[in-house]
Amino acid sequence: MRKIKGLNVLYPGKKLTIAIDIDGTVADCSEIDFSKANKNPYELMKARPIKGALEAVKKLYKQGNTVVFHSSRNYGSKEVTRRWLKKHGFPFHYIKMEKFVAHVYIDDRAINGCNWKRVMKAINNPNIPGRIARSRGMV
Ligand SMILES: [Mg+2]
Repeated sequence: MRKIKGLNVLYPGKKLTIAIDIDGTVADCSEIDFSKANKNPYELMKARPIKGALEAVKKLYKQGNTVVFHSSRNYGSKEVTRRWLKKHGFPFHYIKMEKFVAHVYIDDRAINGCNWKRVMKAINNPNIPGRIARSRGMV
């Protein structure tokens, strides 16, 4: 495991710090009742790995990148989140329950902000993951 002094610093070199979202990105949450998860974080253990995610994360890790899972889950679910990642074999350096500085963000709810025409088209799509999550009662 790479020694890192802090996540708010990006180090020079060719390797990347890669921030990977959990829910909807590596974890299929369709079986999770999020209204229960706030009181019982173990509800989150019902998630299943999304096809291809494990292999991809293993590859990114093996390439020497710094793999950081980040989530907007509440801080009280950090330990359950760590257990879920370990249970399914996801390698990582850190888990952060808030946004931090990285070279790359991988997130199911992301819209690339570099092209505003594309952003405005994408945000009006009723099938974007964020709108689907809202329709399922997720935050
Ligand atoms: Mg997500």
